[in-house]
Amino acid sequence: MAKKVPHRLYLTEDQMPKQWYNLRADMKEKPAPLLNPGTQKPLELEELYPIFCEELAKQELDNTTRYIDIPEEIQDFYKMYRPSPLIRAYNLEKALDTPAKIYYKFEGNNTSGSHKLNSAVAQAYYAKKQGLKGLTTETGAGQWGTALAEACSFYNLPLTVYMVKVSYEQKPFRKTVMETFDAKVIASPSNTTNVGRAILENNPNTGGSLGCAISEAVEKATTTEGYRYVLGSVLNQVVLHQSIIGLESKIAMEMLDEYPDIVIGCAGGGSNLGGLIAPFMQDRLTQKASPRIIAVEPASCPSLTRGKYAYDFCDTGRVTPLAKMYTLGCDFMPSANHAGGLRYHGMSPILSKLYHDGHMEATSVEQTKVFEAAVLFAKQETILPAPESAHAIRTAIDEAILCRETGEAKTILFGLTGTGYFDMTAYNSYLNNSMKDYIPSDEDLQKGFDRLPKVNA
Ligand SMILES: *Cc1c(COP(=O)(O)O)cnc(C)c1O
Repeated sequence: MAKKVPHRLYLTEDQMPKQWYNLRADMKEKPAPLLNPGTQKPLELEELYPIFCEELAKQELDNTTRYIDIPEEIQDFYKMYRPSPLIRAYNLEKALDTPAKIYYKFEGNNTSGSHKLNSAVAQAYYAKKQGLKGLTTETGAGQWGTALAEACSFYNLPLTVYMVKVSYEQKPFRKTVMETFDAKVIASPSNTTNVGRAILENNPNTGGSLGCAISEAVEKATTTEGYRYVLGSVLNQVVLHQSIIGLESKIAMEMLDEYPDIVIGCAGGGSNLGGLIAPFMQDRLTQKASPRIIAVEPASCPSLTRGKYAYDFCDTGRVTPLAKMYTLGCDFMPSANHAGGLRYHGMSPILSKLYHDGHMEATSVEQTKVFEAAVLFAKQETILPAPESAHAIRTAIDEAILCRETGEAKTILFGLTGTGYFDMTAYNSYLNNSMKDYIPSDEDLQKGFDRLPKVNA
């Protein structure tokens, strides 16, 4: 007889992980290295120093150190909002009439409303420790900019955020939150950088994109003395910091004598998913267990399910290093889909490699189906999910319904990455039936593939 599991399980402070887990150490086949776009040779550590702060550059290239100590200052910061709860979705299970056991790890308990603070605090801490004068970054939907603003203000580090223009206009309160934490917020494309001016000249009415905001933030960092650029997803260092999500989840599940048959996460640049699955993927890679792992992406921006595994730029302005990843092409402009945090053209090189090698699955979902799941979840579990997170909810629900049909009592774990309070325009368009599903045609995607950089690696 299984013991009754509490609704919410919190680790004690003593039980919280003191090290991040570096998934790359257990990958026999490593993710492809970043390339210098000029020479097309793998980037050396010193070449990264002008862009990233030194400790983060080292983490970016470290494929071998399995566990990396979390500095005590960062552990202390984590304790302000962690551990995050592992929640058993009893009410959702009941509503679905499923024998499946559904668990979710909820990362929305901080002002950024998402998991992004887990990496923001690490990046701000290392930058401060190196004595940098400030940081630049981009933000799409606003969660990353908010998380980094929180972390930078804590460490007294000036921050400039390039915010994708459509979000800047649609989400003025996001901007105000960032300003509350002293960040300088600029709508991108802007006339504060060469790349921004060039993009505006070609396309004065553009609403901007994440790729374009990255180009501006990188230019600003590399042309301002004492500044560096930081990124909230995609990079190996970010996946490393986010491993805190999976490590906590695994400890909590062990306390309940549980192990997931299926682990599900939404995938934008891949950081929450990479973090959630890290210790479970370790079990797969070391043949201790074989959980199914599923990445869920929007049908409107399907990098894993319909993209190419190829070297590409991480930005639209083609100024960043080249990363080998599943990509729709760095010029790809997704339709105005509401899951802002999932509109990136590429995918973490770590996850891309794992997917390519058959260690995980990917699926794409349409946004009306995503919001249907979001509303059902909100009513049963009383948390209003971020549209990004609702992609994972959709697939978790679909898997639980399959269990109802087959009678299998599978254990499902999914990542509830955040809350959706700034996404009321999206909820409103779902509720008044004006939400559209947009799926790019093969011809649309081919345009992006045709412009991929030619790389001989
Ligand atoms: C940014 C964001 C995501 C997607 O980013 P990943 O790097 O793929 O994790 C998902 N959910 C929320 C709430 C976000 O803010």
